[in-house]
Amino acid sequence: PFPLVIRNTSVVAGFGRGSAEMGIPTANVPVDNEPELQKLVTGVYFGFVRLLRPEQPPQKKIVSRSDGKSEVEFTYGANLADSDFEVLPMVMSLGWNPFFKNSKKACELHILHEFKSTFYGCKLNFIILGYVRPELDYVSMEALIKDIQLDIETARKYLATPEYAKQKDSAGHDAVD
Ligand code: ADP
Ligand code: MG
Repeated sequence: PFPLVIRNTSVVAGFGRGSAEMGIPTANVPVDNEPELQKLVTGVYFGFVRLLRPEQPPQKKIVSRSDGKSEVEFTYGANLADSDFEVLPMVMSLGWNPFFKNSKKACELHILHEFKSTFYGCKLNFIILGYVRPELDYVSMEALIKDIQLDIETARKYLATPEYAKQKDSAGHDAVD
């Protein structure tokens, strides 16, 4: 089914486990309204992703803190740098995460890039270029993390080859227009 392009989808909150428990943040995107994603067999994939610049400049929001003082917060995107909006390599997991026994199918993208801030609510385009492996269960969190590290290296290597690198544009300008 490759390349498979998903456009204009939003980053939603997941189970909050990626960074907290494993040190590997994953941007979760909804599966329900993407028939192409629903059809895909569960497992690990790789491809490119691009955050879409917000149509409106980030809005200021005044939030009150527990100590009674208030603080200015920006909604998504305010602290992101230009480099955060480039076409970036990613590794994607689709499925129920057997280790965590989820009841809902999730689609999560770990982007091989250091972002300046989180980007919940941001829209993004991505292109899936290949399949790495099926979903597996693990005896321990360490074993799971080890395999994810391997997936990341696999994705990095594939995507750096000229055959895959030339597909970058599909996740960029073509997909945005
Ligand atoms: P959640 O369970 O809510 O998805 P995570 O711990 O998986 O929480 O963190 C995901 C969030 O972290 C993403 O939605 C995004 O805003 C942010 N993030 C920061 N860096 C990355 C990255 N390299 N790849 C994916 N998401 C990232
Ligand atoms: Mg996540």
